Amino acid sequence: MSVKENIKKISASIPPQVRLVAVSKTYPVEIIREAYDAGLRVFGENRVQELSAKYPLLPDDIQWHLIGHLQKNKVKYIVPFVSMIHAVDDIDLLKTIEKEASRVNRIIPCLIQIHIAREEAKYGFSYPEAKALFESGALDNLTHVKICGLMGMATFTQDQQQVRNEFRNLALFFGELKNGPMKNKSFFSELSMGMSGDYLLAISEGSTMVRIGSAIFGKRD
Ligand SMILES: *Cc1c(COP(=O)(O)O)cnc(C)c1O
Repeated sequence: MSVKENIKKISASIPPQVRLVAVSKTYPVEIIREAYDAGLRVFGENRVQELSAKYPLLPDDIQWHLIGHLQKNKVKYIVPFVSMIHAVDDIDLLKTIEKEASRVNRIIPCLIQIHIAREEAKYGFSYPEAKALFESGALDNLTHVKICGLMGMATFTQDQQQVRNEFRNLALFFGELKNGPMKNKSFFSELSMGMSGDYLLAISEGSTMVRIGSAIFGKRD
């Protein structure tokens, strides 16, 4: 199937309140342009260098999301144009985003990444760490960072029940924050979970934003 057909099929399977982030990492700009022409406007990249190279070659009205692990020394390259940072996994990173965003006079929507998978290799705060962060009040002092929600990546496994439980627990934690430390913060509304292999499961557990790459663009090399 073509990129256009993939997008049509996927879009039809996503409820209107769920946002689709087309994960374009590793794919060339010509193919991203096809997805743009099919109507997509939100694209996700996981590497700063690749994002910075593609950004000037594609239309201005694209909203670029940085979805992967971000190193502090690279924040300055993306704050002038990025629309959302999904994978904030460290308080020092948050402080760096605050500093660099203030320099360019922008407010950057960010998501706190929670480590929900069994694999050690994935980044993110543990639940107790995240709870402490939200309850500490440290987030209230950020004027150029807007904490808009949470992000998580499930374990890479065929065990659907395992994946469902991980998404469910993340959604529960999200709800606790919305009723607790983030009460009255209406912008705290995004739950970024679900990829090509598990996005329908993620949506059924409350995802508001799915990050889909290979199901749109085809298998990555
Ligand atoms: C690559 C990637 C995705 C998309 O993966 P697919 O399986 O190709 O849909 C989603 N989220 C993150 C953080 C990624 O790095």
